[in-house]
Amino acid sequence: PEQIRRAIDSLTAQGVDVVRIVHPDLPGRARGKDILLPHLPEAATHGVAFCRAATYHAGTRGEVSDLPEGRRAGMPDIVVHPNLDTLAPLPWEPGVAWCIGDALEPGTGLPASESPRHLIQHVTGHLTACGLTAVVGPELEYVLLERDPASPHGWRRYAAMSGNLYAAGRSGDLDGHLLQTMRYLHAAGISATGGNREYAGGQFEINLAHSEALYAADQAFLFKSAVREIACLQGKLATFMAKPFNDGAGSGFHLHISMYDDDQHNVFDDTNQPNGLSATARHSISGVLKHAPALTALCNPTVNSYKRLSANSAAPWLIDWGLDNRCAMVRIPPQRGNATRIELRLPDASANPYLATAALIAAIRLGIDKPAEPPARLNGYGYDPSKAARLPTNLAAALDALEADHELTETLGKAFIDTFLHLKRNELERYQQYVTDWEFREYAR
Ligand code: GLU
Ligand code: MG
Ligand code: MG
Repeated sequence: PEQIRRAIDSLTAQGVDVVRIVHPDLPGRARGKDILLPHLPEAATHGVAFCRAATYHAGTRGEVSDLPEGRRAGMPDIVVHPNLDTLAPLPWEPGVAWCIGDALEPGTGLPASESPRHLIQHVTGHLTACGLTAVVGPELEYVLLERDPASPHGWRRYAAMSGNLYAAGRSGDLDGHLLQTMRYLHAAGISATGGNREYAGGQFEINLAHSEALYAADQAFLFKSAVREIACLQGKLATFMAKPFNDGAGSGFHLHISMYDDDQHNVFDDTNQPNGLSATARHSISGVLKHAPALTALCNPTVNSYKRLSANSAAPWLIDWGLDNRCAMVRIPPQRGNATRIELRLPDASANPYLATAALIAAIRLGIDKPAEPPARLNGYGYDPSKAARLPTNLAAALDALEADHELTETLGKAFIDTFLHLKRNELERYQQYVTDWEFREYAR
């Protein structure tokens, strides 16, 4: 009650009269309810009810699939409890502050089995038991679109020009989208450390500060919501689709991961070992490579994701690793000492940050638990399928690989995996029944 009173005083002083309680659904989108400030004490004490099926059993377009805990159970509630320490006023929506909630079972008060936030707590809990802390630095790319009544879906790339990468200033961003976004993010307490134009037309990248895994996933989740909201206010659409257009690169969600022991020592760093990489670092790489087919289901969770994973792009195509090599699935950036880390280039921007982070940390932990040396690393530019195995080429194959990977599914928890697979197979079935314009062009005549 003391914390609630202090929060209300501080929000009132900042001119806030509405608190938006948000939490991630399975695709990673923010689901929320707006609460008027006088009702915050009640919401903070008892939580706020959400329909479970609509929250966790609905795909990217909101179609509710038929799961035992959801629609088939009569569409019961989950209760979302706000974490008041995540309260942050929104500079782009004066008078509103948001805060992240945790979804709990109404009867027992235990975490809902589908809760992405809980999944990451579950996985990092295992690590803590081994005296390790995962530190994660997310990098997110997205494509900004502006309205175009002449285009079939109503949008075209914003400020498209070739050779966009690192285009500096207004000439590459006439409306100052990046500047305004970075300032808003900072004011909302989202730790963007830098931003730039990316390769594809209309594409941007913004990097987030590295931090402990749950906090980093919270930041990536809020970041995506914030960027979508800010673009919306600018009359634009920020898409985190993996590969929005046939021409041009897709959008990655690179995760830089390092591990620290209880003495704040980076256990990936070892100056006495080849390339300065400790045995723990090598075992971690090996764990990620071993579980890569299953990881794609969680890091590349849409039908569209597999169109980004291609040869001769800066996205991965093979299950490989390399030193400062952007063709590889696992890149080891050149920094050493406390900055020694592995960059997982597999996830795309459409991934749920909680699920991708949890899955990668789980694979790293499995690698540490069952130590093995990684295969020979990739040297130079290369997408040579004779040197390494291919990643799954479509969502169906990835979901099958996840289901077959018992080590990983046990680590992540069967209840979560079952729900995820059910939802995604439902999405896949809808896609497989849908006739695309490619088919018409290919087969009509
Ligand atoms: N857009 C690329 C991807 O899909 C990454 C480009 C880069 O290296 O930043 O992963
Ligand atoms: Mg990039
Ligand atoms: Mg990167």
